[in-house]
Amino acid sequence: MASITNHLPTAELQALDAAHHMHPFTTGDELAAKGARVITRAKGIYLTDSDGNEILDAMAGLWCVNLGYGRPELGEVAKRQMSELPYYNTFFQTTHVPGIALAKTLADLAPAHLNHVFFAGSGSEANDTNLRMVRTYWAEKGQPQKSHVISRKNAYHGSSIGSGSLGGMTYMHAQGGMPIPGIHHIGQPDWWAEGGDHTPEDFGLARAQELEAKILELGAENVAAFIGEPVQGAGGVIVPPATYWPEIQRICKKYDILLIADEVICGFGRTGNWFGSETMDITPDIMTIAKGLSSGYAPIGGSIVSDAIAEVINACEFNHGYTYSGHPVCAAVAEENLRIMQEEDILTHVRKVAAPALKAALDGLADHPLVGTVNISGMMASLPLTPHKESRAKFAGDAGAVGYTCREHCFANNLVMRHVGDRMIISPPLVITPEEIEIFATRAKLALDATYKDLKEKDMLKAAS
Ligand SMILES: *Cc1c(COP(=O)(O)O)cnc(C)c1O
Repeated sequence: MASITNHLPTAELQALDAAHHMHPFTTGDELAAKGARVITRAKGIYLTDSDGNEILDAMAGLWCVNLGYGRPELGEVAKRQMSELPYYNTFFQTTHVPGIALAKTLADLAPAHLNHVFFAGSGSEANDTNLRMVRTYWAEKGQPQKSHVISRKNAYHGSSIGSGSLGGMTYMHAQGGMPIPGIHHIGQPDWWAEGGDHTPEDFGLARAQELEAKILELGAENVAAFIGEPVQGAGGVIVPPATYWPEIQRICKKYDILLIADEVICGFGRTGNWFGSETMDITPDIMTIAKGLSSGYAPIGGSIVSDAIAEVINACEFNHGYTYSGHPVCAAVAEENLRIMQEEDILTHVRKVAAPALKAALDGLADHPLVGTVNISGMMASLPLTPHKESRAKFAGDAGAVGYTCREHCFANNLVMRHVGDRMIISPPLVITPEEIEIFATRAKLALDATYKDLKEKDMLKAAS
């Protein structure tokens, strides 16, 4: 067995990585030529790489490390659970205490009518569960043709063939035979990029009404569900206009269409409430959860399901499940994560301290010549970069080239901000303090300034026509 430790020189680790490790959403050859950044440790909001750089992680990993890195309690719980019962399944008329406890905790935290949990290992798996569950629900009710699902362009629901089909990423659909049949995508409520001369309110209504048009086109008797993230995450932190969700909710009710809220990012405090559905004032039939459920310390996801759906699904044999559904170690870690969130009242910290400080910091960057606007909901935000604020113009060159340049300057300033196209994305650990947010803002400004200088020198500040 190869013995690979942090003590190898960075270049050796990078060479081994390039030789044997395939990375998600990455052009392997380009990364191999450049060498992957090797992260060796993390504490609080800071990552340490193999060269000893301390990098402020304004992405909380992938939107998931809500409690920050290095919480010893979570490791201790995992160790205890591994000794007591490292694994057992929940298939053959068996159950275990961590699964029971976490399902009960989630039922207590979720909106009143959502009291049943189907566990998965990830958000992708949970959305695959949802797809099969809503179709099974209608079939059991004697309407097997009510099977189509409507989602949105630029939505992100995961990377398996089912969840990737539910998602609306065209660059994903271009590979591997997606989307599978029976899934449809309407426009997203992205006023800044697509709203033209409409007011945000009118645009929000118009985009919601695309759902009604699609239902009428397919026939309501053929449509099982609508799925949406309360605030789109990987699409670029798109906070919908206030008119959007009430209209979606109205349409779902009118045509008896189930509403699936994908809470994988929004859930567990990200928008200042336990769930983004509360922030957006919607009443979903199913919520998808993952990421912040365990603060990313263990892979776990699931679906929190309404009483009405559970009643139907529980009356049949639902031929679905994963080896690691409700994995006891992951469930115990998630339970401890949620216990800490409550004990330390993280929601109040977000609402009263962290989110207002983040908003103030980003508003301070809004004057920067590259920053088009500040999209923010609680602790998730994006800064669309633009050559011309007033017209909300896109850059003339390749989409994403400016965002990529800015991300590289962020890294150079020991800051992780992700880019989605030409938007910079911010989603830090929820426990971040105002002092740390100031450090974030200082580094972000340096990166934006360096990006602006680059673009000027390379004559890239032109607007697309
Ligand atoms: C990340 C994400 C998923 C997929 O979760 P995985 O754990 O990566 O499978 C699904 N939905 C949303 C909204 C996400 O952000």
